[in-house]
Formats: sequence, C-alpha cells, structure tokens
Amino acid sequence: MSEVMTTPAVVILLGPPGAGKGTQARMLQDRYGFVQLSTGDLLRAAVSQGTPAGLAAMAVMEAGGLVSDKIVLEILENRMAQPDIRAGVILDGFPRTDGQATALDGLLAASGMKISAAISLTVDDAAMIDRVAGRFTCAECGEGYHDTHKPVAVPGTCDKCGGRAFKRRPDDNADTARARLLAYHAETAPLIAHYRKAGVLQEIDAMGPIAEIAERLGEVLQRLAT
Ligand code: AMP
Repeated sequence: MSEVMTTPAVVILLGPPGAGKGTQARMLQDRYGFVQLSTGDLLRAAVSQGTPAGLAAMAVMEAGGLVSDKIVLEILENRMAQPDIRAGVILDGFPRTDGQATALDGLLAASGMKISAAISLTVDDAAMIDRVAGRFTCAECGEGYHDTHKPVAVPGTCDKCGGRAFKRRPDDNADTARARLLAYHAETAPLIAHYRKAGVLQEIDAMGPIAEIAERLGEVLQRLAT
C-alpha cells in the first residue's frame, strides 16, 4: 500500500481508549507493512525500563491522565528518527493534544512527509468501558484479545503464536478507563475539527466486529492510494 503512495504514508488513528486503535493498527501493520507507532507502547516500555521519562510518566498513566507533551514528543521524535518508518507509519494514540498535533505537523514538514489521513474511530462511551475492562494481550507476540468479544480459541493459548502467557494493562480497569475517557473528550476530541479543517479527516464507525472495521479501514486506505 504505502509503496504506491509517493511519500511514506502517515496515518493517524484517532479515537477514545477502547475504540480499537491498537488492534486495527496491528492489523494494518501485518497487512500493508506500515509501522505501528503507539506512544502508549513506547511509554509503557519506558516505564518498564525505568528511564527518567518512564518514571515521570508512570503515575500519570496509572491515573488515566495525559503524560506531558514534552515527554511524549521526545519519545516520539526518537522513534520517528529510525529508518523503518519510511515504510509508512500508523500513529496509534498520537497526537492527543493540540500541542502534539502542532509539533507533529512541524516534524513531518521537516522530513518532507505529510499526513495522509486522520481516521477517527467512533464508538459509544459505554461500549468503550466494556471493551477496555475486558481486554488482554499475549505476553509473547502482543496479539490483543477480549474476554467476551475476542476470546482465545483454545483456553490459555495464543491463537497467533501459541504463547501461553497473557497480560492485562494496569490502567485497563473501569475507574481508570473513565478518567482516560474524560481526558480524551477534553484534550483529544477537539483534534477531529483540526484534521477536518486540514482536509484529511476520515470518520469510521468502530462499533461491530473487528474484521468489519478492518474492512472499512482498508477501503479508506485503498481510496487514498488511488
Ligand atoms: P494508550 O496505550 O494509547 O491507551 O495510552 C496509555 C496511556 O499512556 C494513556 O492513558 C496516557 O496516560 C499515556 N499516553 C499515551 N499516548 C499519549 C500521548 N500521545 N499523550 C499523552 N499521554 C499519552
């Protein structure tokens, strides 16, 4: 997909926690070779490595707030400096604030890239809490599951890699999910208007089966490539 675009594709996935950004970004990565770039994953890695940025971010993440733009931008810029992103990048969970959106525009302009699409995944707030509270991932390959909506086929075994260890994020509980949803509405939802104005906004109904939503996303990306 991204090879048929003239410059590397930069696709932003916008949406509240639980909208399926991570799941869909991983599927796009597998299907089209895009690089999934999740600031949440990068921050979790910094937390587990105990870096100064990770130590500063940890309490905010546990409370469901937003980590400062300074920390997030530093982490993102380091990742964007790596050559693999020339394959095209799916930004999952970034930008989340006006300051981050402005910084991204500057960063992309400096490297001759631009936003191909900002895809807003829309879900009901109530459904989002249920999605977040039931999700878990394979500890080995990172494949995402949900207790009721996407259980593993064989109990205790990852469908994708056969791994037998799973993990749940500490912030995937109903209380923290509500705080994350508030942060989304206060800081991130206004970016929808920003990208509409820039002429790159695409809105996708993200309720329904994962495969159907992936299909809708694929159609949007195909349209962009032609
Ligand atoms: P996520 O994995 O995208 O759900 O992010 C998990 C947590 O990491 C969020 O609740 C925030 O505390 C933090 N986080 C991730 N990305 C950002 C970002 N772009 N700006 C600020 N905080 C972020």
